[in-house]
Amino acid sequence: MNQPRDKFNKIKVLIVGSGIIGKSNAFKLSDYGFDITIVDQNEINNSSNAALGILMGKIYQKRKGRSWILRQKSLELWPKWVNILQSYNSKLRIEKPLLQLTNDLEKFKKLTTFANNNRHDGLETIETNSYIYKSINKMFEDNKLQGIISHQDGRINPRTLLETLDIALKAKNIKTIKNQIIRIEKKNNKWNCKLKTGEIFNSEIVILCNSLDSLKLINLEINKIKLKPVLGQAVEILNKEKNKNFLSLPKLLNINGKNLITLSKEKIIIGSTDEYSFQPEEFYLNKLFEFLENKPIWLDKKNITKKWFGIRSRPEGEPSPLLKSLEKGLILCSGFYKNGILLAPACSNWVSEEIKKHI
Ligand SMILES: Cc1cc2nc3c(=O)[nH]c(=O)nc-3n(C[C@H](O)[C@H](O)[C@H](O)COP(=O)(O)OP(=O)(O)OC[C@H]3O[C@@H](n4cnc5c(N)ncnc54)[C@H](O)[C@@H]3O)c2cc1C
Repeated sequence: MNQPRDKFNKIKVLIVGSGIIGKSNAFKLSDYGFDITIVDQNEINNSSNAALGILMGKIYQKRKGRSWILRQKSLELWPKWVNILQSYNSKLRIEKPLLQLTNDLEKFKKLTTFANNNRHDGLETIETNSYIYKSINKMFEDNKLQGIISHQDGRINPRTLLETLDIALKAKNIKTIKNQIIRIEKKNNKWNCKLKTGEIFNSEIVILCNSLDSLKLINLEINKIKLKPVLGQAVEILNKEKNKNFLSLPKLLNINGKNLITLSKEKIIIGSTDEYSFQPEEFYLNKLFEFLENKPIWLDKKNITKKWFGIRSRPEGEPSPLLKSLEKGLILCSGFYKNGILLAPACSNWVSEEIKKHI
């Protein structure tokens, strides 16, 4: 958008939901001078706070289609965003690289071919005699793990990111309301948004960033949208074995599909599960400990020091995420299943372009 900021500063934008998607949209749109308010009744218990923050873009093997374009765009934008956000919080950073490992020989062969074909994207097969395997094999014992490195994928700590966005949004005079939107309706070219406490908030534009609950605010007879909950559990493990040190490992690992983040000498995070329900189940929690044939002693449920979960929303019958203009002045930015943190900048860019069509 090249229009001057004054053109937009009288346009009220209400963002429903203050997870990573709501906050990122507010951050991006603030560049254009909109009068922005974010409403959320409980931003602490959302899925953004439960996320691990892994940015898995280049390691993604499907290299065409919308999802690939969004991943690419986000990986290009994240370093720029972090650069700007660091002026609000110098602790924010992207940790790199990400290693993808397996003990399945067939899968390893496929990974090697994939990495060799995509070296230009910072992918590399880890040589058999690499020193990296020394520490990996010590910590994961006899599992003969092998794999690839993605130098451009990584991780942003989601908590630090959300806190930093809060500081930035405050500095940019974005207003926040701790409340719930229970109904939205169009009246005299404006959106009347009813808060749970009874007040009405009027705005020209509404952006629905409230994940699963966006369905409650949409006319589903006109917009045939379906979302289902996908719960994800994650755990923090404490290793008490003296001769083991998680810090000897690369910081970010994906082993047989499970993500691991080393936190300290003794602590590591493992996540996450995919459960089509609202309640975490023991069966799926157990699966977080079953990604290796030969389990190291420390990989045991009794070593859990923290466990948590979050509920993501997955579109049914169409790909994730849902980026749609529903009516004039009503934009949906929801249905972020696994990669909301990764995709936040690219999707906020989409909204910032789309909003022009509504003005
Ligand atoms: C265990 C786990 C690990 C994950 N790991 C990763 C990862 O490594 N990398 C990655 O990219 N993604 C990861 N994700 C996915 C990521 O967390 C989500 O895709 C992302 O957080 C979705 O963000 P969101 O803002 O759409 O939703 P949410 O964070 O759920 O936010 C929605 C907000 O809307 C608010 N809301 C709802 N209804 C209303 C209403 N009517 N009025 C006002 N407010 C409302 C809610 O209170 C909530 O705060 C993980 C998720 C989980 C659970």
